[in-house]
Amino acid sequence: MAEKKKGFGYTKLPYRYVTLYKDGAWDNGVLSEDENVVINESASVLQYAQTCFEGMKAYKTKEGKAVCFRPDLNAKRMEETCIRLKMPVIPEDKFIDAVKQVVKANIDYIPSYEEGGSLYIRPFMIGTSPVIPILPATEYQFRIYCSPVGYYFGGGVNALKLQVSDYDRAAPHGTGNIKAGLNYAMSLYVTMQAHENGFDENVYLDPATRTFIEETGGANLIFVSKDGKLIVPKSDSILPSITRRSLVAIAKDYFGIEVEERQVRLEELADFAECGMCGTAAVLSPVKMISDHGKEYNFTIEEDGYGKILGQLRKTLTGIQVGDIEAPKGWVVDID
Ligand SMILES: *Cc1c(COP(=O)(O)O)cnc(C)c1O
Repeated sequence: MAEKKKGFGYTKLPYRYVTLYKDGAWDNGVLSEDENVVINESASVLQYAQTCFEGMKAYKTKEGKAVCFRPDLNAKRMEETCIRLKMPVIPEDKFIDAVKQVVKANIDYIPSYEEGGSLYIRPFMIGTSPVIPILPATEYQFRIYCSPVGYYFGGGVNALKLQVSDYDRAAPHGTGNIKAGLNYAMSLYVTMQAHENGFDENVYLDPATRTFIEETGGANLIFVSKDGKLIVPKSDSILPSITRRSLVAIAKDYFGIEVEERQVRLEELADFAECGMCGTAAVLSPVKMISDHGKEYNFTIEEDGYGKILGQLRKTLTGIQVGDIEAPKGWVVDID
């Protein structure tokens, strides 16, 4: 059980949730023991990448209760993604009910509070009916599977090194702000390039002018300025991370930290003291260095492996997620 708790891999668990869309309506949905998806060879997901996903986590509290973090925001973001990809929307109550069902069915696989991992929850939707013209499918599957996970980056707290990419993540007025599968296929080449160059990930710049910081391939970037403000890059082509939005609220409401959400120029990195990557998978991973073609921007890391302010924000966020610290209303949802 939970043998993958230190890493971030797929483990087949007993149950996944499946609901089918046909003739303009979703069916009731079932829990299935079959991890395989059998679809037509000309399904829109296979030909034109008509697919999108979400990512969230369930945790065990100290008392052993199963909870998940802000699933309403994942439901809302998936709705926006589906609208943009001409896919049918999963109503928020159906989405949250499905999350609860599938987590409950696999409840023995949520790592314990003491182990410190979580159950990663992956909702996704695919177009299943055959297409040849470039048009949306008429039939869809929405599924949610789960997998026990630990750290996303290399099994522990490791301050990361990033490189500024020569490639773009998203086109101007494109799909960077939605969780569409197509946004990740094109990043694989660039990610492997970063690894070959000795970096953990890429920093993408704004696709129109390549002067402003956007984000990494799967996590938003946040910074702390030398005078202690939280600086959050703003752009229409950044994926609106729920972790990032939560950290901004924590910085303001729990610590009284001033937050600036605005465009951030690449050269401004020289004025920043701390940098972190945030997302469900990355949580808030410390970044020690960003290299722009050999020009290095360095950030402070304390003895515990984190920056001073971002370390505090991370501790508060994870404390809220496992129920140790009182959460703002609605953030932590009981599974049963
Ligand atoms: C999913 C994702 C994030 C993180 O979003 P969370 O809601 O915090 O998990 C950030 N950037 C990209 C590109 C993503 O796909």
